Amino acid sequence: MELFAVPRLPEVRPGDDLAGQIEERVDLRDDDVVCVASTVVSKAEGRLADLADFPAGPRAEEIADRLESISGDEKDPRFAQAVLEESTEIIMEAPFLLTESKFGHVGVNAGIDRSNVGDGGKDLLLLPERPNESATRIRDNLRADAAVVVTDTCGRPFRHGQRGVAIGWDGIPASRDWRGETDRDGHELEVTVESVVDELAAAANLVTGEGDDGLPVAVVRDWEFGDHDGSENLYRDVESDFVRQALRGWEFARD
Ligand code: GDP
Ligand code: MN
Ligand code: MN
Repeated sequence: MELFAVPRLPEVRPGDDLAGQIEERVDLRDDDVVCVASTVVSKAEGRLADLADFPAGPRAEEIADRLESISGDEKDPRFAQAVLEESTEIIMEAPFLLTESKFGHVGVNAGIDRSNVGDGGKDLLLLPERPNESATRIRDNLRADAAVVVTDTCGRPFRHGQRGVAIGWDGIPASRDWRGETDRDGHELEVTVESVVDELAAAANLVTGEGDDGLPVAVVRDWEFGDHDGSENLYRDVESDFVRQALRGWEFARD
């Protein structure tokens, strides 16, 4: 397989046609997977906001005060308010805000970015409202019959370092379901469901970078999903998410 970044994309602005901008610069093929950083999807969708749009309520004030006393850094309660408004569940309030977004993604600060926000004078870039629909919209506007994955860079529990994950996708299943297939010893696989959209997003992140590279889109070419069952499930149900359940009962305490 081949993986390359789409060169020379402009600063993306609200209303831009991302599919058109991409196809002006690369001849996409059917079966390519186009991985698009959520940053530019959000910009194209006008998901820019100002801190002033989020006057802080009492809960946001309380959260910001607590985070400020833990970190020693100044925290703007309006940012906490923005995170609350983008979320359906607050899983951890301290020492950072871990929440579930309205579309099911669990992440720090509801994925709201304060970097690469653009030069339009706005403070915040919110994640796309419904990234699966964003992926479908981009895909529908491509001439090629390619798949689209919307990515974001996220941290992870248990390990240092961030990597790309998929928050929206269309044109390929989220996962390859290996259950029922056999390993080299003839044993039947019982649990392996491989989240290929996350793997593609992580690979895309290798070439898009995190800073000022200006490379928000990566194309994966000649990669095959293969002859496997597909699965659309990426986000765990709360009932089977034991880590989340454990965190709900956990309180941060400084020694
Ligand atoms: P995120 O992972 O979706 O939060 O996005 P990042 O902020 O990490 O940016 C990913 C890549 O896209 C980096 O190479 C940025 O320089 C680039 N990027 C961000 N916004 C734009 C834009 O409007 N135009 C272009 N050409 N590149 C951008
Ligand atoms: Mn981001
Ligand atoms: Mn990134």
